[in-house]
Amino acid sequence: MSDSNISSVRTRFAPSPTGLLHVGGIRTALFAWLLARQQGGQFILRIEDTDQKREMQGADQHLMDSLRALGLDYDEGPDIGGPCGPYRQSDRLERYQEWARQLIDAGRAYADPYSPEELQAFREQAQKEKRPFLFRDHRPENPPAWDGSKPLRFKSEPKAYSWTDAVMGKLSTGPEVVDDFILIKSDGYPTYNFAHICDDADMKISHVIRGQEFISSVPNYLNLYEALGLEPPVLATMPHILAGEGNKKLSKRDGAKDVLDYIREGYLPEALVNFIASMGWNDGTEQEIFSRDELIAKFSLDRIQKSGARFDERRLLWMNGSYVRELPLEDLYAKTINTGMAVEPNAAPQAGSYWPEAAADASVEYRMHVLELVQERLKYLAELPELTMFFFEDLPVDPELISGHKQLKKLEPTEIKELLQRSRDSLAESDFSIDDLTQRLNGLLEATGQKPAVLFSLIRIATTQSPASPGLAETMHLLGKDRSLQRIDNQLAAL
Ligand code: GLU
Repeated sequence: MSDSNISSVRTRFAPSPTGLLHVGGIRTALFAWLLARQQGGQFILRIEDTDQKREMQGADQHLMDSLRALGLDYDEGPDIGGPCGPYRQSDRLERYQEWARQLIDAGRAYADPYSPEELQAFREQAQKEKRPFLFRDHRPENPPAWDGSKPLRFKSEPKAYSWTDAVMGKLSTGPEVVDDFILIKSDGYPTYNFAHICDDADMKISHVIRGQEFISSVPNYLNLYEALGLEPPVLATMPHILAGEGNKKLSKRDGAKDVLDYIREGYLPEALVNFIASMGWNDGTEQEIFSRDELIAKFSLDRIQKSGARFDERRLLWMNGSYVRELPLEDLYAKTINTGMAVEPNAAPQAGSYWPEAAADASVEYRMHVLELVQERLKYLAELPELTMFFFEDLPVDPELISGHKQLKKLEPTEIKELLQRSRDSLAESDFSIDDLTQRLNGLLEATGQKPAVLFSLIRIATTQSPASPGLAETMHLLGKDRSLQRIDNQLAAL
């Protein structure tokens, strides 16, 4: 390839296809993507599939789908190719052999002759003597030639290191942390420790953005870069993402859902991207809502925090709700009818829509009116049926809505019936315009001397069979006179 085509900033996301990708896991991808887009560079997807035991069928497709769903487009990757491919480590085994050969020829790698039992004995011995176990204390004097049947180990040159991590700042370690680690396992696959260094060099990666679990190995990596005559890329270590409470690292068990689950539930990619970026990054102001373009313009590694970032799903809910509210009604409507995905992976397609089944026969105009009324309260699209069902079908009378209501349960049944009957009589006179309904509802408050929390709740329950609805006058107006009165009659009959 010609180097002139490769810009100086090249970042990568290098997931192992071992499982689904929770919202925390994709943050590294987002930060790498933001940096590449900001600098006019390239963002590369590399699948690190060298641990065959941990591999999960279909995980790499899932990773690619997740990136695309969030709009994190990559310039090079396993399914689209590129000048530095292949982009799947299992397709690069020969290349690791070449890098390994370079180390062997330079006297910087050797075959590890020990059996697992022998290694275990060395470990136990070190433990007994209360000293850290270092493989290099047991370097064989005359290692056999490496034929691939034994692991290949790096022959380290222990020394102290000081380096600057673009996020964590200045770091230093003593020589005791540098050891002879495995480069190639006896199954022929390289370790992450070796493969990522070869690949980052071959793919001309300028910035390595990754999680904290690798930071203790950096001195070993620095030693290996030297042995290979490579200039290390910029290293940037992300802070942990902590679960909602306490100091636990975020995991699936803490409710961190898979990215595609959020998409299926109708979280907006823009909101998810904004939320994920805010886990550990801010621009130094109080601003919380950032468009994608703003994030690209403002992102910088040195504003990533060092300490753990918090995953707060309620904040995501709030943030998504605020994106939903900001959408022009037509755009929101388009999203509700075109999920691009069934709500459940195997659900019968409701014409790929978030609307309740009962909405199937309703006109677009009516649905748009409904949507306009609930837009304010809608937090994510899969909530739509719950919030709008009663606009499309008569729900059965639910006595608990009254008996369990904080205010209404204090009233005698006869009193409730009387109140509702009076309301019905007044509403029956209405032309059901919003203005007239509003006036009548206020008139009823005055005439009955009741609080809105009593009277309006009662009418709301009768007309919707739901504990909450948009504005009562607007709701009844949209339901229409016949349907509203009929529902009040049903409620009266049940009282
Ligand atoms: N394959 C490693 C992982 O999934 C990647 C770490 C890195 O970004 O270098 O944890």
